[in-house]
Amino acid sequence: MKIYNTLTKKVEEFIPNDKKQVKMYTCGPTVYNYAHIGNLRTYVFEDILEKTLNYIGYDVKRCMNITDVGHMTSDADTGEDKMLKGAQRENKTVYEIAQFYTDAFFSDLKDLNIKKPDIISKASDNIDEYIKIVEQLLKKGYAYLANNNVYFDVSKVSNYYDLSGKNKEDLLVAVREDVEEDEFKRNPADFGLWFTVSKFSNQVMKWDSPWGIGYPGWHIECSGIALKYLGDKLDIHCGGVDNIFPHHTNEIAQSESFIGHTWCKYWMHGEHLNDKTGKMSKSKGDFLTLSLLKEKGYDPLVYRMFCLQSHYRNQLVFSYEAMDITTNAYNKLINKIKSIKDNNCGKLDQDKINNYKSDFIKALENDLNTSSALTVLYNVLKDNEISNKTKLFLVGDFDKVLSLDLLNDSCDVLDLELKEYIETMINLRNEAKKNKDYNRADEIRNELLNKKIVLKDTKDGTIYEIK
Ligand code: AMP
Ligand code: ZN
Repeated sequence: MKIYNTLTKKVEEFIPNDKKQVKMYTCGPTVYNYAHIGNLRTYVFEDILEKTLNYIGYDVKRCMNITDVGHMTSDADTGEDKMLKGAQRENKTVYEIAQFYTDAFFSDLKDLNIKKPDIISKASDNIDEYIKIVEQLLKKGYAYLANNNVYFDVSKVSNYYDLSGKNKEDLLVAVREDVEEDEFKRNPADFGLWFTVSKFSNQVMKWDSPWGIGYPGWHIECSGIALKYLGDKLDIHCGGVDNIFPHHTNEIAQSESFIGHTWCKYWMHGEHLNDKTGKMSKSKGDFLTLSLLKEKGYDPLVYRMFCLQSHYRNQLVFSYEAMDITTNAYNKLINKIKSIKDNNCGKLDQDKINNYKSDFIKALENDLNTSSALTVLYNVLKDNEISNKTKLFLVGDFDKVLSLDLLNDSCDVLDLELKEYIETMINLRNEAKKNKDYNRADEIRNELLNKKIVLKDTKDGTIYEIK
């Protein structure tokens, strides 16, 4: 399998440390708000990666953190504490906020057919682990105490700039953009490992440590959790491109300084989902959630398909027009498969199965080319020379990776058919009203009412409610 490695900036052959089991770490959400559909694009990419590895024969041990403490509104150490901000916004405790948005995140994963990682660990559950690492980093001279906080000294590592490919000067600009500089840091890029002097007097989550009561920095959490659950040799570490600097850069610096050897071989990053105004981000406040898409009548799996149609390393622009087009494509696909299911006959053609499976694998092994993988699926469906039984076998097999519920006659598809029916009826009624054919308009309203569909005329047009 070939994958693009951010560390070497090359497409490389993937060779895990252990031939059988791949150890994979993926950064999880900061649970102070809903995940937006941009975050979810990254989780879809990671899900496809895990399922592809499974499909080609690897066992995958995957771990993900849930950040419930220590993440500031800037990804460096400045700005407000995200969790505290969320708690103040909703007049709840940070614990309530964390629980609520963790549950909401899991529900999004379920809706998108994203498999939950084998190990999911809350940042606040691993405090001892971070303290152990920070103590070692201090002992080895990689970290220093200043103003009662512990900082990592980036000048002590020679490969600090490798992952981002940026030089010190570029990074200085990036750091400076982060409002205030911390006068206690030796170098501007140094980052906090443990904070005891917090400017947030109302900091709720805090623990005792050798340096006083405080809390961990965001970056140490992922290193601590990954090292604890996956050991000191990781195969793949993933996230969105915004994680490259400073988060993953800092993870590498502190983990490798702690363990004394190379930590992770392959770093993979998903490009962003943008809206028309640029990168979708939680801090902008105005972002789209999966629940909102559902409220608007879109099937979450249509969003999954929308993601799969483009390569994870390309930016993707979200629009409702694109969602409508993908809804049509998804409906057609499901209906085509349904018609094949209704005629499930013929013999399994093993040679054809092998050929198509090999095309499918080739697409995915080419740095997860999901749009080519979808093309292989379409090629199967339109192949007149293979039996329906063979087609259905391949559809079910490919769906182990695509996870689009291709063989389920899911209610969502029926819902979408229903949605189309109602919209057609509303259009017919509007036309009747335009032609002053009020009897016909009433007839349509009553026909829908009999089906428990209630129309309401508003200044923005006709809306409906299903009773
Ligand atoms: P967060 O909850 O902000 O820590 O982000 C969770 C994951 O979503 C991280 O892997 C980010 O890199 C990723 N991410 C953030 N914004 C976007 C975006 N607009 N598009 C795709 N992924 C994103
Ligand atoms: Zn992380």
